[in-house]
Amino acid sequence: MHQFTPPPHTVVHGSGPTWAVGELLVHRVDETELPPPTGAWLLPEATPDAVGDARWLRPDFATPDGALRLASHSFAVEANGLRVLVDTGIGNGRTRANPAFDHLDTPYLQRLTAAGFAPESVDLVILTHLHTDHVGWNTLDRNGSWVPTFPNARYLVARTEWDYWAGVEMDEPRRQLFRDSVHPVRDAGLLDLVDVPDTGSEVAPGIRLRPTPGHTPGQVAVELHSGARSAVITGDCIHHPVQLHRPGITSCVDIDPAQAIHSRRELVASLADTETLLLGSHFPPPTAGLVTTEAGTYRLRPVPGVSS
Ligand SMILES: [Zn+2]
Repeated sequence: MHQFTPPPHTVVHGSGPTWAVGELLVHRVDETELPPPTGAWLLPEATPDAVGDARWLRPDFATPDGALRLASHSFAVEANGLRVLVDTGIGNGRTRANPAFDHLDTPYLQRLTAAGFAPESVDLVILTHLHTDHVGWNTLDRNGSWVPTFPNARYLVARTEWDYWAGVEMDEPRRQLFRDSVHPVRDAGLLDLVDVPDTGSEVAPGIRLRPTPGHTPGQVAVELHSGARSAVITGDCIHHPVQLHRPGITSCVDIDPAQAIHSRRELVASLADTETLLLGSHFPPPTAGLVTTEAGTYRLRPVPGVSS
């Protein structure tokens, strides 16, 4: 672990972009782009025709021929002296059924450290939900056993989310995911379950969990507030900006697609024509923007972060 110990609170050149939300700083920590076929698999209703309708998606969010671009990254937030990581990506060296997630080998931890977040310095890890691509770096393989990557952090999960997975019959790939990336955190005593009522739950000064169920029963978006400024991290309530243009586009892995549409419509409507920055958990660069209304629907006006 000692190789991941730079001077604390130092932003190193070459780390990902940063957005200021009042006094809070939000860094994007890149893991990997997702392979080109991912969009058509994940969001099958986002056909090239549907994507073509929204010209603003190109070139950043879609290819010229209408394929979606998607990414895996975390957001690392400096909030009133707390160091908070929102979601932990896919992780390295995992056995996964999805070839896009299987045995990755990325310098994610080095990038996280370069952003000033050495693993030992992280205070809170917020997991928007318990899917493969959001919990991977919860743990590290140390001599063949999976141990928490962030030994000094509390890991937060919505109680609804935890209870759902505890109550269903999981197939072997999902059991594997819980064995290597979720249960070691619980077994180390680092897991906190959070009750998230409809009104949301403040988990730290300026940081609230907002229920956005549907993709999974306990999926949360993460609201950031500082002074008059605010931002929302989507989790998988919104996978791709095309879902602003057509909020009815569902993902093939939504557990309750109708509920997911309802949550997405509510979230997007609440952000429309406000100054609240939307940060997409799978949006490729520039990743963030303001939601505006246009011709009876919505679009994203990109707000690129500042690269160091
Ligand atoms: Zn995801």
